[in-house]
Amino acid sequence: MQGAILTYHSISPEPSSVAIHPELFRSQMERLARSSWKVLTVRELVERRGEEIPKMAVTFDDGFADFHRYALPILQELGLTATVYVVAGRVGGCSDWEKRASVSHAPLMGWSELEACMEAGVEIGAHTLDHPRLTRLVPAEIEHQLGEGRRLLSERLGQETVSFCYPYGDWDPQVAELVSRAGYRSAVTCDYRYLRREDGVFLLPRLGINRVTATDHVAQRLYIDTILAGGAERYQTMKRARHSPVSGKEKA
Ligand SMILES: [Zn+2]
Repeated sequence: MQGAILTYHSISPEPSSVAIHPELFRSQMERLARSSWKVLTVRELVERRGEEIPKMAVTFDDGFADFHRYALPILQELGLTATVYVVAGRVGGCSDWEKRASVSHAPLMGWSELEACMEAGVEIGAHTLDHPRLTRLVPAEIEHQLGEGRRLLSERLGQETVSFCYPYGDWDPQVAELVSRAGYRSAVTCDYRYLRREDGVFLLPRLGINRVTATDHVAQRLYIDTILAGGAERYQTMKRARHSPVSGKEKA
């Protein structure tokens, strides 16, 4: 195994299908900090792919304001870093692309909060302008979502934005090719597995934390230990066998 990338969305005490409670998040990060995994940003992980050390990136999709409020202090206290994938056209707004009635629209970080994240060593990656399903757009629209999203983040934050995340984990070969042409150096999917040596940098798989019921703290503790021990793929296979039919891909 070459490494792993974890996927989080929201860190909040308000129960929701996409939120992990801050105390639970703290316990997961404490376990990670005590482990032999080297925690890197996605940018660093891609740059150091060839190194023979167990590498882990902790990623947060969508740029929720609760990352700044709850997750950042915990990461800083434990000396860990992360990558946050931001919807560039919604900075300071809310997650109004969400259509599921069960998930309410949540506030997103503004520019000053994103700057504070960067000062703490957190990488800001791109997650398009408006969070569309990219495979449903024509090439010019895809290029706009990729290029404008990157330009806006780079200009406003004074950085080179190099890491990308497909909304909903939705990609096809054309979309992946356009991501590489837009100047990004990596892209993450919602394909559930550890990294393998042969993985292309524009199709990096991840291990979703919300695959296990976010409000079941006992299950979550067992789950993070399983991930850190290298057994996440086996765990999912067993879970699938117990609970068919299989649930669909999680939201990104
Ligand atoms: Zn998303």
